[in-house]
Amino acid sequence: MNVNDSERIRHILKKKGFVDVQDEDKADIIIINTCAVREKPQQKVFSYVGRVGKGKKVVIAGCVAQSEGLNLLKKDKKVNFVIGTHQYYKIDSIFENCLKENKNGVDVEFSKEWKEIIPDINTRESKVYGYISIMEGCNNFCSYCIVPFTRGREKHRPFKDIVKEAEYLSYNGYKEIILLGQNVNSWEDKKEGIKFVDLLSYIATNINVKWVRFITSYPGYYDNELIEVMAKHRSIARHIHFPAQSGSTRILKRMNRTYTREQYLKMIFDFKKNLPDVKFSSDFIVGFPSENENDFNLTLSLIQEVEYESIFSFVYSPRKHTKALLLKDDLDMKVKKQRLYKLQEVQRDIQLINNEKLIGRVVEVLVVKRNPKKIDEVIARTESYRVVNFESDAKPGEFKKILIENVGPYSLRGKEI
Ligand code: SF4
Repeated sequence: MNVNDSERIRHILKKKGFVDVQDEDKADIIIINTCAVREKPQQKVFSYVGRVGKGKKVVIAGCVAQSEGLNLLKKDKKVNFVIGTHQYYKIDSIFENCLKENKNGVDVEFSKEWKEIIPDINTRESKVYGYISIMEGCNNFCSYCIVPFTRGREKHRPFKDIVKEAEYLSYNGYKEIILLGQNVNSWEDKKEGIKFVDLLSYIATNINVKWVRFITSYPGYYDNELIEVMAKHRSIARHIHFPAQSGSTRILKRMNRTYTREQYLKMIFDFKKNLPDVKFSSDFIVGFPSENENDFNLTLSLIQEVEYESIFSFVYSPRKHTKALLLKDDLDMKVKKQRLYKLQEVQRDIQLINNEKLIGRVVEVLVVKRNPKKIDEVIARTESYRVVNFESDAKPGEFKKILIENVGPYSLRGKEI
């Protein structure tokens, strides 16, 4: 979502005549779009600000801006403006004031309205895949998560606006669209009586792109209708990100996740039964307060049972405002790190075994870009988001059939057939 927010910011500023530069030294203003989900990226913001050269304006945007507000201005004199996650739509006027009147300031008000900004294709990260935000915020309050405090309560974008953006991307030759939100499967257009599965179905039927994806889905809101819609529409990618966070029901309860290990596995089983080619990815937190060996082993066995395509895994990071701060963070960091390495090792082995099964097989891939390190190669992705490298003069946006010859745990290599 931060990538998409940066696209939206770039769009507004370009329209006002600001120029986007790649070389930081040439910039007059530096916008740092930040993430507050863990402590480490938050700390990186300050070390980055410290390195910014003299005479530049520094604007901090994103979740750290939202969470820290005025503290950021106080903490470092180099910071000129702090803009929260709901105020991007007026970043141009903020900039104009900030520059003309040489003022510093903070704007971190939450707004209840959805502010419509559709980034044009020249301000987007890619001309092959396009992000479409469909909702923002979260009402779940998982006990470790800062998101409800940095993105606010859920706001759902109107159906017609989402469709307009999807049509725009399709018209401009995009091959893949990715519907974004903290809880995409809770999206609805109440006024129109349209639910997430209806939106998905509409886009899959009416928008001419090869793959439609959605991220992130909350496992607690899953229902069978999603399987039915996916089964009906081949353009909905057979790949779902379902963050499990832990394989232990005891820990899930302490995390305020509203599903059990058994419910999560049943959901995965239902998908696999009805859509045999579907693949999953997930997020895991290791070392949550009171996690014991048994809880951790349950997480490992869940990973082995599901056989994820990929996972994002981190050691628990205590966050401001959250309920988990009240729990005793009783585990030694050494133990947490050992568990994280173990979990990542287990996942790496799963990925390697699954990738090895593809040797000698032909897979369809979407070329995403040229390999910046090897000019005669391109980087492509499979439907389930595996990275495939191969020699080719294919252009980004082309689909190719690739015979897989070599694999590692994180990528595949092959040749065009
Ligand atoms: S559902 Fe996701 S975004 Fe919402 S509180 Fe839980 S972890 Fe955070």
